[in-house]
Amino acid sequence: MEYEAVIGLEVHAQIHTRAKMYCACPVVPDTGDVPPNTQVCPVCLALPGTLPVVNRRAVELGIMTGLALNCTINPVNVFARKSYFYPDLPKGYQISQYELPLAVNGALEIETASGVRRIGIIRAHLEEDTAKLYHQEDGTALVDFNRAGVPLIEIVSAPDMHTVEEVQAYATTLRELLIYLGINAGDMEKGEMRFEANVSVRPVGTATLGTRTEIKNLNSFRALAASVAYEIERQKAVLEDGGVIVQQTLGWDEAAGKTYPQRSKEYAHDYRYFPEPDIPPLEMAPDWVAALHARVPELPLAKKRRLMHDYGIRPYDAALLVSDRRVADYFEATATLARARDIAPQDVANWITGELFRLLNAAALSIDACKITPRHLLELLMRVQQGTVSVTAAKTVLAAMHETGEFPDAVIERLGLAQISDAAALVALVQKVIADNPEQVQQYLRGKTNVLGWLVGQVMQASKGKANPQETRTLLQQALEQQRP
Ligand code: ADP
Ligand code: MG
Ligand code: ZN
Repeated sequence: MEYEAVIGLEVHAQIHTRAKMYCACPVVPDTGDVPPNTQVCPVCLALPGTLPVVNRRAVELGIMTGLALNCTINPVNVFARKSYFYPDLPKGYQISQYELPLAVNGALEIETASGVRRIGIIRAHLEEDTAKLYHQEDGTALVDFNRAGVPLIEIVSAPDMHTVEEVQAYATTLRELLIYLGINAGDMEKGEMRFEANVSVRPVGTATLGTRTEIKNLNSFRALAASVAYEIERQKAVLEDGGVIVQQTLGWDEAAGKTYPQRSKEYAHDYRYFPEPDIPPLEMAPDWVAALHARVPELPLAKKRRLMHDYGIRPYDAALLVSDRRVADYFEATATLARARDIAPQDVANWITGELFRLLNAAALSIDACKITPRHLLELLMRVQQGTVSVTAAKTVLAAMHETGEFPDAVIERLGLAQISDAAALVALVQKVIADNPEQVQQYLRGKTNVLGWLVGQVMQASKGKANPQETRTLLQQALEQQRP
């Protein structure tokens, strides 16, 4: 029997507001620099008699996320108590949403090798993060309440995914979308985004869903992909052996590369959800929602399609450019200037995704910290186009610009990198390379013409990258022909 996997994802993302979800304590990134239990107050420590107040900014960012996911925003939102006991949850319950969550019935478009797919979004709701536990080697644990009460949005997909590739595309697309919206920086090592994967399998061609398992606490793309792949195969093997799948919560053992049972079937009513009596229902005024809709930025996939359509950028490069909104803005600023000078936007894209990315990566800098402005880059592309510098020399110029923030003309002048266009100087270099490499010259004359490329390279090297490659090639060919007896 052939089986098909069915996967639904639950994603928790921190919303980086200034203050926490229900109190005024600052939200601090989990960098380890902030001393534990310093960003706390009676509300997030759950001292008796305190009352929560909803953070308006968190609701606004939540609404924008819901809209970006093509959801309907519920006109009335109700917060709910989700009761459970755990040392990282001082109230003994989490203030979440249940029956009337923030947003429902949306979809997220993803791209896979087999085309575009729409993955349904069942719901997105607001809640609060727990404190952070540090398990010690002696078996005790320490608790840091700085994270307690940080706003979270939980995004629940429909069981619409069928392959690991789709799961990866969904997770990556959602991460980019959240970064575009300014929800958080998508840093999974810091726990800004966490996944839970629900997995089942069913015979191909059947419509009913199989029994699912839920893999908890996946905090990297690698863990997500590997655990889902493992779980699909495990379930298939159980069914092929005539067994049944037990609905349960699983953990992921990274080292062993296996899922393992954590606790058996967990019923929603275990949480004894009921409307939070300390927070009145939130009415989402239609004009407020409309104003927030207007502030949803162009999203990555739409931007990618526009770069392909309006600038003729290849799909692969367009995807690279939109993976950071600031890079896409930088590209568009440069491409607009370049077009006015008859330089193709694709050339601009090549320089950005090639040399510029290399320099930024090596320096661990983001593009907005880069000294090379779109005007700087444009001037360099113009010098290449005009033949003032060779492409090789232009790379050296770019690296120097990156260091000093100079304009290209200043660097070309300072480093003496202007292309040798003077024919006499080039001829001298060509003659020297021919004299120095008699063996390769003989090979060429015997018909092994691909030696020519190597000889061009020698001239380029001798000129320190300043020779014009086209001209060098022509001159070399002429000179070689003259060597024939
Ligand atoms: P719970 O809150 O108990 O986890 P939900 O109904 O909210 O239950 O579902 C959570 C997730 O499980 C959703 O992402 C949904 O798509 C997914 N899901 C539900 N049933 C299945 C199934 N049979 N196979 C795979 N995923 C499923
Ligand atoms: Mg769940
Ligand atoms: Zn607080």
